[in-house]
Formats: sequence, structure tokens, C-alpha cells
Amino acid sequence: MIIVMESTATEEEILAVENKIRALGYNPHEIIGIERKVIGAVGDERGKEQLQQIESMPGVESVVPILKPYKLASREMRKIDSIINCGGVPVGGKNIALIAGPCSVESREQICTTARLVKNAGANLMRGGAYKPRTSPYSFQGLEEEGLKLLAEAKAQTGLPIVTEVMNPREVDLVARYADVMQVGARNVQNFSLLKELGQIKKPILLKRGLMTTIKEFLMSTEYILSEGNQEVILCERGIRTFETATRNTLDISCIPVLKKETHLPIIIDPSHATGHWDLVESMSRASIAAGADGLMIEVHPDPVNAFSDGPQSLKPAKFAKLVQDLRPLIELMGRSLN
Ligand code: PEP
Ligand code: MN
Repeated sequence: MIIVMESTATEEEILAVENKIRALGYNPHEIIGIERKVIGAVGDERGKEQLQQIESMPGVESVVPILKPYKLASREMRKIDSIINCGGVPVGGKNIALIAGPCSVESREQICTTARLVKNAGANLMRGGAYKPRTSPYSFQGLEEEGLKLLAEAKAQTGLPIVTEVMNPREVDLVARYADVMQVGARNVQNFSLLKELGQIKKPILLKRGLMTTIKEFLMSTEYILSEGNQEVILCERGIRTFETATRNTLDISCIPVLKKETHLPIIIDPSHATGHWDLVESMSRASIAAGADGLMIEVHPDPVNAFSDGPQSLKPAKFAKLVQDLRPLIELMGRSLN
């Protein structure tokens, strides 16, 4: 349910409504609107009619049901776009986020060089996996905590906030000590224990869509994080599995306008995993920005041929720099900005 407060509602009236929501066994989520305050009451679907009582409380304008199954993520709940603060970099709104870096952190030299080069090219966040979800248990699994330390060194040298993946609920605290944004990989999009754990921390989450996840399922996964209290979620489309084999996955460009309609959260695109080929990254980046994406996550490696993972889809730093240069006029045309 959404409790819409009158524009003249006092702090005391708002507090009384929140206490009533709690007394009825629901969790209040305050949403500061442009003109008035809205309070979301979420919890057990059964018995939500009880919340209707709140309508007669002072300062309350109306109590309206949220029709979508995802409540806190929905546009019904929040009309304006959410802007997520990622280690000082705003993601969402007019801003374009450019997250770049290698698939995996491999060495000090590799991550620090890449971070420096992508920063000079215009990236505002860096990526690099220390815990890698690999199809084969015999493939490189990541440098783990050592990789997180190397990311921290690269951040110290460049100032770029870190986006890195967490795979295991037991490692949330450890990864959160280093990461500015915690990435949930495509394969973990429905790992509800992990999502609930991430809902309890105060760090932005970058949630990747799964290989076979519908948009509705994707938003329900998002809701797992939001409903635990963490409102800072960025959605990431990285291609879905179809019958097509010419590309690693199929980039679902139409998910951008659909998600924009359904949710207030920012949506970024990962054209690297979506296509699997470095030479398709530029055109898909352009298509994503043109379709209204809030940013891109691009794999960049100084020596793709010898990369430990995802070399074929990784751009060399110079190619990445050219891509950013070429994207700038389009970003401007779309009324967006790359800080
Ligand atoms: C990655 O970002 O390196 C990654 C493993 O992506 P995904 O979870 O989308 O496959
Ligand atoms: Mn990768």
C-alpha cells in the first residue's frame, strides 16, 4: 500500500502513521516526493486491508494499493528517477555511468594500468572481478581477497570507485570492505539468501539480469534487496539466452524502455557479456544510450589475447578511449552527461 500524506502533514503526523504501519506488522518506507511525502507499507500480502484504517489518520490524504507484485521497485511507489550514489559518483538521473575494467583482476600491474587508462578515457567507475562465477570449476576462479586488495590499490591511484562481484552470502562483509558497488552476477539473480543479505547492508548493489530471467522476475529479485531496507539498486541487462549462437547472448534492448516504465531505479547495459565479441561492443553501446540506458559496463583489458577470462569480448584501452570519444555527442544529444 502507498500512504500519500497531505502536503501540509507535520512530522508528528508522519511519525504516527509510521508507528501505526509498524503496529499492523508492516515496514514503512519513506519516499520524499517533490510536493509531498509518500510512505510505502510493505509486508505480508495477507491482511493488507487493515492498512486501509490509516486513511482516517490526521495528515493522510489517501491510501492506495500498489498493483504491481514488485512494490518498492515500482514506478507507482516513486515517480521520479532514483539516483544512486556510488562512492561519490551519481548513477541515474541525467548522469551516464561508465564502468570499465577487466573481467577478472589478474595482477597489480594489470588492474592498475587498466584503471589508469580507463579513467583517462572517461570512465567514472572501474570494474574487476575477484570472485569469478565460471562455468567450469577448472577455470580461473579469481584472486579472491588478494584481488580485492589490488582493486583498492587501483582505486587509491585513480580515485575510481570499485564495482566488484560478491558470490557468496558469507563473503558479503569482506567484499563490502573494499567495494563501492557490490555486483550480483547473472547466475545469482535468484539467489534469494544472497539478495536478502545484500538488502541489509548500506552499499549500492548492481544486480545483473539472469540468462533466463524475465523482466518481472528481475524486478522481483530487486524487491528482495529493497524489502530488506537497502534502496540502492542498479539494474544491469547483460544479454539473455536465445536460440541465436552468433553472439554469446542476445542483448534485450527493449528491456530499457520497459524497465524505465516499470521502475524508478537506474538501468545500465553490459554490451561485453551481451555480445561476447569486442567488435560488437561499440554499436551496442550506442544503441543502449539511444534507448535511454543510464550507463554502460564494458570489459577492457590491456592484453585481451592473454586475459584469464573473457578476452574475446574485451576492448583494448585505446579502443575503449575511442568508443567514449565517439559516444560523447550521442550522450549530449540524449540530454545526458558524462562527468
Ligand atoms: C562479469 O561481469 O564478469 C560476469 C561474470 O557477468 P555475468 O554475471 O553477467 O555473466
Ligand atoms: Mn566477464
